[in-house]
Amino acid sequence: MDSGHTIPILGNGYVRYIDHLGSDLRIVESARISYKSPSKGEDQDKKLLSYLYKNRHTSPFEQCSITYNIKMPIFIMRQFVRHRTFRLNEWSGRYSELADEFYIPTQWRAADAKNKQGSQVSSELDHAALTQEVKEAHEKAYATYQSLLQKGVARELARAVLPVSIFTEVYVNCDLHNLIHFLQLREDDHAQMEIREMAAAMRVVAEQLYPWTFEAFHKYRLGVTDRTKSA
Ligand SMILES: Cc1cc2nc3c(=O)[nH]c(=O)nc-3n(C[C@H](O)[C@H](O)[C@H](O)COP(=O)(O)OP(=O)(O)OC[C@H]3O[C@@H](n4cnc5c(N)ncnc54)[C@H](O)[C@@H]3O)c2cc1C
Repeated sequence: MDSGHTIPILGNGYVRYIDHLGSDLRIVESARISYKSPSKGEDQDKKLLSYLYKNRHTSPFEQCSITYNIKMPIFIMRQFVRHRTFRLNEWSGRYSELADEFYIPTQWRAADAKNKQGSQVSSELDHAALTQEVKEAHEKAYATYQSLLQKGVARELARAVLPVSIFTEVYVNCDLHNLIHFLQLREDDHAQMEIREMAAAMRVVAEQLYPWTFEAFHKYRLGVTDRTKSA
C-alpha cells in the first residue's frame, strides 16, 4: 500500500495510511525466537500465527505497528484518546487557526428507548430541518470564533466557542496487538456509529498489511462479545 492511501470517513474526515513496521512473518519470526527455530515454510508459518492468535500469545503482535493520519470530529477524538497505548500527536488549536469544518450526520438518530448505548435512524425526526438548524449553529459559532480572533483574543481561548463537531487531526502509531484490542471494542455494536466507521477504515488498512493476522481476527474474534477476553 502506498503511503498516503486515504479512506474518507464521516464527511470531511479520513483515515490515511502513513507507514508500518513488520509483517505477518515478523510476528512468526518473533515467536520462533523462543526455540531459536527457523521458518518452516509458508503453510507452517501461517498455522503458527493462527495458533498464536487463537491462544492469546499476544506479544509477537506487538512487534508490528502502523502509523495513521486521521481526521475526525473532536467528540470522536475524546473516545479515541481513551486508548492509552496509542502514541499520538494532535493538531493544536493553540498554535493554528481551526478550519471551518464540522461533522454533520447524513441521517439523524434517535436514542434507543431500552439500550442506553443505542441509537437508530428515526423517521420521526425531520432530518432536513435538523441539518439546517445544526448548520446555522456551526456558522454562528465559527463567526464568533473569527470575531474573537479579530478582536485580539488568543486562539487558545477563542476556540472555546467552537462545538465538539469540529474536525481535528492526529498522527497516531499503534502496535498490532493493541490495534486489535481497539477494533474489538470500537467496531462492536455497543460503540457509537461514528467511531465504528473510523475503526472499520483503520481495519481495512491493517488487513492489507497483515492478511494472515486478520484472517485469524475474523476467524476467532469478530463478533465475540465476551469483554473479559482481551486480544
Ligand atoms: C462502548 C464503550 C463505551 C464506553 N463508555 C465510557 C463511558 O461512558 N465513560 C468512560 O469514561 N469511558 C467509557 N469507555 C472507555 C472505556 O472505559 C475504556 O477506557 C476504553 O475502551 C479503553 O479501553 P482499554 O483501557 O481496554 O484500552 P487501552 O487504554 O487501549 O489499553 C489497552 C490495554 O492495555 C492495558 N493498559 C493500558 N494502560 C493501562 C494502565 N495504565 N494500567 C493498567 N493497564 C493498562 C489494559 O490491559 C488495557 O485493556 C467506553 C468504551 C466503549 C468501547
